[in-house]
Amino acid sequence: MSLVVGLTGGIGSGKTTVADLFAELGAAIVDTDVIAHELTSAQGAAMPAIVRAFGTAVLQKDGGLDRAAMRRLCFSDPAMRKRLEAILHPLIRGESVARCRRAGHAPYVLLVVPLLIESGAYREYVDRILVVDCDETQQIARVMARSGLSEDEVRGIMATQAGRAERLAAADDVLANTGARDELQTGVLALHRRYLELSRRADVQGHA
Ligand code: ADP
Repeated sequence: MSLVVGLTGGIGSGKTTVADLFAELGAAIVDTDVIAHELTSAQGAAMPAIVRAFGTAVLQKDGGLDRAAMRRLCFSDPAMRKRLEAILHPLIRGESVARCRRAGHAPYVLLVVPLLIESGAYREYVDRILVVDCDETQQIARVMARSGLSEDEVRGIMATQAGRAERLAAADDVLANTGARDELQTGVLALHRRYLELSRRADVQGHA
């Protein structure tokens, strides 16, 4: 299997932006959020189990998951959230690992896991952890601009995630996204070169 780098960071830190830059350089990207959306779209592999657990009230007209309805349900009842996670998490993990395995053509894989530090579930699959880091005020401003959520709502989400210090303590590599978007390129290129070198070394060792 290729070298797998776990990419994580708080909401709005810039994970997607950074992953896009790595993809342009030739990295394979496996994004757990993308997989979660696929699994819960119409015909998604998680939908039969979700309908069995929650009924058809959480369906959109097309048969995909009505995310707003599900969010309301989980918000009012933590047991519902647990039930949903028990269905989704193993499926997301299985699909993520399968996609990492299939990415053998790429020199390395970036596995994007927003809650990598919090869940611990992916640590055994990643060779190292890259944290995208920015100030909390920047996180809040970026998420508010992107989503229309209020500051309190963004802070509420951030409160469920690891803090900046905890995340940085778990990082093998840190990419600062504290400046303008085009300042990211230099840091991404330096890390790309490092990952190419690490994957070459792993290849040599693997074939020794
Ligand atoms: P995440 O995937 O970690 O939630 P995104 O990559 O989606 O974060 O970035 C959050 C928002 O902030 C997006 O709208 C993105 O375009 C914007 N953004 C990312 N990096 C910067 C930056 N350096 N300067 C300004 N806006 C940024």
